[in-house]
Amino acid sequence: MANDTLDIKEFHWLMDMLQTIDVGLIVLDRNYNIQVWNSFMENHSGMSPTAVKDQLLFDVFKDLKQDWFTQKSESVFLLKNRAFITWELRPYLFKFKNYRPITGTEPFMYQNVNISPLASADGTVNHICVIVYDVTDIASNKKALEGANKELETLSRTDKLTLLNNRGYWEECLQNEYSRLQRYDTISSLVMFDIDHFKKVNDTYGHQAGDEVIRVVSKLLRDSLRKTDIAGRYGGEEFGIILGHTNAKNAMIYCERLRQAIEDTIVVHDKVEIKFTVSLGICEASKKIEDYKSWLENTDKALYEAKENGRNQTRIFQL
Ligand code: GH3
Ligand code: MG
Ligand code: MG
Repeated sequence: MANDTLDIKEFHWLMDMLQTIDVGLIVLDRNYNIQVWNSFMENHSGMSPTAVKDQLLFDVFKDLKQDWFTQKSESVFLLKNRAFITWELRPYLFKFKNYRPITGTEPFMYQNVNISPLASADGTVNHICVIVYDVTDIASNKKALEGANKELETLSRTDKLTLLNNRGYWEECLQNEYSRLQRYDTISSLVMFDIDHFKKVNDTYGHQAGDEVIRVVSKLLRDSLRKTDIAGRYGGEEFGIILGHTNAKNAMIYCERLRQAIEDTIVVHDKVEIKFTVSLGICEASKKIEDYKSWLENTDKALYEAKENGRNQTRIFQL
């Protein structure tokens, strides 16, 4: 008799613990009817244990994917194995609002879920236990870190003044493009261009005005690009463009359009109008070019010719 009293006491303690524990706890019978529903579940769903007792889980949570959830749970019933659902796979099983003060920006609670078999004395499994862990803090931190890393990566390869790729990253792209051309039978053209008599812009209107001209040229350049083109700031007022799937003839059409757009532009700085032009060089990739550096040098030679020939024009490199 004394033992029985102890058992009941222990049973109450156990029930108290299950109620107050800071994880969601649900026991489902073989037909997915709710048998146990602890206070975590009550607090987050707003439904009391008596309200959900013997209710079908999928009636209580209408947006729970029934097919998917039963498929997971059936293997727990049949194979007596545990099943896990991580927030990375599926952010949540039960859509609960997130009330955490620190991660309050997250609209809902991220959850890890564990489904375990509950065996009777004879070993049969007619119930499963679903445990829900609130992992909003972990998920939120991980997402913030990933976001920050991505931002840092973008920053580390972007030139501040022009918002174009910086030289380091652009050269990496050029190297990749060159290797791609070796592997596949495709064409590509490289363009380098430089602002004409830029020293004079700086000397006449000041360095700030010079910066503004570089910004405006970069904006015109960015607006001229297709998705597959990659532009970068190669030096102070020198730019490079990789034109994917483009031969020299089409690169010439592109360059002349850009050159004209720049010639037609007026920058107003401190109420003074500034006009400027650029010279451009093109080199179409070919099997005869032995590395990406030579591709760059050839393009630079064409640019030099454009300068020599009077500036404000485009030249194609000829082998
Ligand atoms: P050319 O037509 O032969 O190109 O003549 P140029 O005067 O433009 O000669 P060059 O290309 O050699 O001149 C580059 C000048 O650009 C020198 C440098 O002071 C200036 N410069 C480089 N970077 C910047 C920058 O970020 N801002 C400003 N304002 N000037 C820069
Ligand atoms: Mg120049
Ligand atoms: Mg220059």
